[in-house]
Amino acid sequence: MTDNIKDKVVVITGASSGIGEATAKLLAGKGAKVVLGARRADKLKRIADEITQRGGQAAYQQLDVTQQSDNDAIVKLAKDRFGRVDVIFLNAGLMPNSPLSALKTDEWHRMVDVNIKGVLNGVAAVLPSFIAQKSGHVIATSSVAGLKAYPGGAVYGGTKWFVRDFMEVLRMESAMEGTHIRTATIYPAAINTELLGTITDKSSREQMQGLYDKLGISPDRIADVVAFAIGQPADTTINEFTVGPANQPW
Ligand code: NDP
Repeated sequence: MTDNIKDKVVVITGASSGIGEATAKLLAGKGAKVVLGARRADKLKRIADEITQRGGQAAYQQLDVTQQSDNDAIVKLAKDRFGRVDVIFLNAGLMPNSPLSALKTDEWHRMVDVNIKGVLNGVAAVLPSFIAQKSGHVIATSSVAGLKAYPGGAVYGGTKWFVRDFMEVLRMESAMEGTHIRTATIYPAAINTELLGTITDKSSREQMQGLYDKLGISPDRIADVVAFAIGQPADTTINEFTVGPANQPW
């Protein structure tokens, strides 16, 4: 299976920590050429240097997924550096959960901008190339919050439900249009990353922290399923993965 990963050019958004970082390192170790994007360029540089020192191939560029021009630029970087793009992993996101009654409207809008519009911008950046080359793989990080509703997660969950719908229609339309674009949507549960740092509502944060301290598992588990999806033969789409701690009940 590793053969289907080797030399693939993979753009990863949200690559500066957590799931994106773990995935970049794993794929690079399997011979992929990874192109890392996020806002914290210092972190991207450290990760890219580590990959290179281990004999892998990596490029990075500062990316704010809310800006279409940034998404276009990182796809261009991938092509300039490595000749093409095979996979985009749309993974950047934030989860400032809070009860609706707290009226943290700036955070609601921020989640829509990053978790929804960031996905749209990434797909818009890469779709013309995928259509022209009649191949490509779009992988997105939704969440179990995109499958189940829970108090405090109204807006976050909504953004992740969006990802689920959008990715399924992308899969269907690509199959109908014969563009041969594969899709994979990932629904993680509690994964130990920097994500809880985005929660400003004290009780939501404490509640989540308690859950993650007790149950959270490594982002390497998500990297594993991304690699599994990419490693499939070109005629096979593994469309959805729900991945979380064995002891997490919801
Ligand atoms: P992290 O906070 O560790 O990673 C989030 C990444 O998104 C960072 O690299 C961050 O980089 C990047 N990011 C945030 N805003 C932007 C932006 N505007 N432009 C570009 N990059 C941005 O958390 P995770 O690794 O957990 O999060 C990755 C994805 O997984 C998210 O979509 C999250 O919703 C999802 N998820 C996580 C779960 C978990 O339990 N951890 C569960 C379910 C889903 P920077 O700040 O440098 O821009």
